[in-house]
Amino acid sequence: MIVDKIKKREVKNIQPKKPVDIPVGKWVKCEKCKEIIYKEAVQENYSVCPNCGYHFRLSSRRRIAQIIDERNF
Ligand SMILES: [Zn+2]
Repeated sequence: MIVDKIKKREVKNIQPKKPVDIPVGKWVKCEKCKEIIYKEAVQENYSVCPNCGYHFRLSSRRRIAQIIDERNF
């Protein structure tokens, strides 16, 4: 008798899971309460964390624009 041993190779296609990325530029992380906050919500709150009141860094131009009226500057 002829016994044919057929070895089937199982080829598993392992697809690496894509890491869930937070869209850059839309979300900011509060350094104080570690909360992920929508950037627009922070900007509407004058760059202050609505969760804990942490003040985010502002560019100097943006800060001047908030404090001083452009006509008087
Ligand atoms: Zn916060």
